[in-house]
Amino acid sequence: MPDVRAAIIPVTPFQQNCTLLWCEKTKKAAVVDPGGDLDQIKQAIKQSGVTVEKIILTHGHIDHAGGAAELREDLDVQIEGPHEADRFLLDRLAEQGQAYGFPARAVTPDRWLNEGDTVTVGDLVLDVLHCPGHSPGSVVLVSKDQRFALVGDVLFQGSVGRTDLPGGDSKALIRSIKDKLLLLGDDITFICGHGPMSTIGQERQTNPFLQGDGMI
Ligand SMILES: [Zn+2]
Ligand SMILES: [Zn+2]
Repeated sequence: MPDVRAAIIPVTPFQQNCTLLWCEKTKKAAVVDPGGDLDQIKQAIKQSGVTVEKIILTHGHIDHAGGAAELREDLDVQIEGPHEADRFLLDRLAEQGQAYGFPARAVTPDRWLNEGDTVTVGDLVLDVLHCPGHSPGSVVLVSKDQRFALVGDVLFQGSVGRTDLPGGDSKALIRSIKDKLLLLGDDITFICGHGPMSTIGQERQTNPFLQGDGMI
């Protein structure tokens, strides 16, 4: 069985958790959500001694996707994700970069992801869940073998993704979390887009946004 490893590299003024994810058996890796600060990301790649075979995007926001176009050229790899419903966000990244004051480029992924697709990293197999709400095209990647997930900005330790940005939908977000993420099992550990890691069980029991009938 492949062993999953991850290094978190906080990037951009939003302190977004860019994640270098790799399969320990093959030393093949993916860069998940390279929002910016590409020098730091490349340093982490060098230190871990892995070979990056792809870039994965969980959704189209600038802090996650702003550096993806440049990193794709630098590493000569393909970009997988998010769901095509975030195309409008990815198309506008250059303007967003100007508005927020850091460099970003528009990007079109090489592969859009849909519910039920799989993404591989070395021998790791990640199942794709389409989880709209924070953005229409947000995806979550789950390794059922390794009991591990990358949830982007859908769910955080003690909180959930904001829904006041274009395309956000608070009811859809809670449905995505309750109908998809909570069903994965309490023992799933996840890395989220901002802040510390958590587990599905901890959030199911203590996250204030997921108690009662869960309307926010
Ligand atoms: Zn976001
Ligand atoms: Zn974010």
